[in-house]
Amino acid sequence: MSTSTVYKGSCFCGAVQFTVTGKPALQGYCHCKSCKTWAAAPANAFTLWDPKSVNVAQGSDNIASFNKTANSERCWCKVCGGHLFSKHPSMELTDVYAAVIPDFPFEPDIHVHYQEATLHIYDGLPKMKDLPEEAGGSGELIAE
Ligand SMILES: [Zn+2]
Ligand SMILES: [Zn+2]
Repeated sequence: MSTSTVYKGSCFCGAVQFTVTGKPALQGYCHCKSCKTWAAAPANAFTLWDPKSVNVAQGSDNIASFNKTANSERCWCKVCGGHLFSKHPSMELTDVYAAVIPDFPFEPDIHVHYQEATLHIYDGLPKMKDLPEEAGGSGELIAE
């Protein structure tokens, strides 16, 4: 393997600092209701990483989390309330929100849970009805 690039991330106030290293397994936009209501946003720009690639450098005791389901541990900063990442233990991946790693060159591959979309994005990327088959979804594509 060649040298891996390290990207810095932080919460809204900076109390929590972390890094991601290398390349994510997948990146894109999630339109599911859980992401939207948790983020209070019309979609979630995600980057999915091997959990070993995500390292908290500072402020780990300021991280709190909430599990609506066993498959999503949503982590945020207790000081500012800013969101950091979601751990998906069943997939062995951690979703680092693209917005909190500003130097990472976000290049979305895909839209997931597009059947729940309220903000339609006409970018020509594949729109999965729910999730890819390998992630336990139908693998079905739907129109933009
Ligand atoms: Zn913070
Ligand atoms: Zn989602």
